[in-house]
Amino acid sequence: MGKDVDINKVTHQHLQLDEFFTGGFLIKGNKVMHEQAESKELIVNSSVDLEKVGEEVRQCRKCSLESSRTNAVPGEGNPNARIMFIGEAPGADEDAQGRPFVGRAGKLLDKIIIACGLKRNDVFIGNILKCRPPENRDPTADEIISCLPYLQRQIEIINPEIIVALGAHAARTLLNTNKSIGQMRGQFHEYFAGLGRPPIKLMATYHTAYLLRNYSKENRLRVWEDMKKVLTELGLPIPESSKK
Ligand code: URA
Repeated sequence: MGKDVDINKVTHQHLQLDEFFTGGFLIKGNKVMHEQAESKELIVNSSVDLEKVGEEVRQCRKCSLESSRTNAVPGEGNPNARIMFIGEAPGADEDAQGRPFVGRAGKLLDKIIIACGLKRNDVFIGNILKCRPPENRDPTADEIISCLPYLQRQIEIINPEIIVALGAHAARTLLNTNKSIGQMRGQFHEYFAGLGRPPIKLMATYHTAYLLRNYSKENRLRVWEDMKKVLTELGLPIPESSKK
């Protein structure tokens, strides 16, 4: 899009057209419809802002991972998500496709999301690091320091009600602690969202890659217990078929 284009104006025109064909707010002109349109506009603005962050991530040269990556993986999902799932860093499949959680650990995350009665595009899925560390080694402190501002901006734009930190790296980074995942999981913590902003609730749970490596009924139930707390906190029903 050229830089002379007024994104707000274009957005508004889209909304007007959209609402026109669905019998919308401009014709009816009532308050509820206006409010719906405003929230739609917010969603469009958030997706524009998220795309800007995504583009910066794809161009990023802030650390040495840029030389080994195939694709940067900014994250994806609903700009208006109530839940953000945050993992550690892309693996081989994610690096190849430029999308988060698309390998085996991602398929398990998809199953968890579905068990919650949600769809993948209801939520936002991202990572602490946006590029794959060689051989999937742990992120270094320097890499986290370079990369974290992208995730912080994504959280700021989406402003979710709950962050689900998958695994120790995500939870430690977002909570600025050295505790083990065993100590952190199963309880709500507070993510500091910036000066003047209320903290965001954060649930820490096991990473799906850990779950795959340590697949036991107990571990599966632990993750499910954590997710039930998230659903309850959001006032969402716990799907019958998923009740264990
Ligand atoms: N593991 C992660 O932490 N993130 C991904 O995107 C995939 C696997």
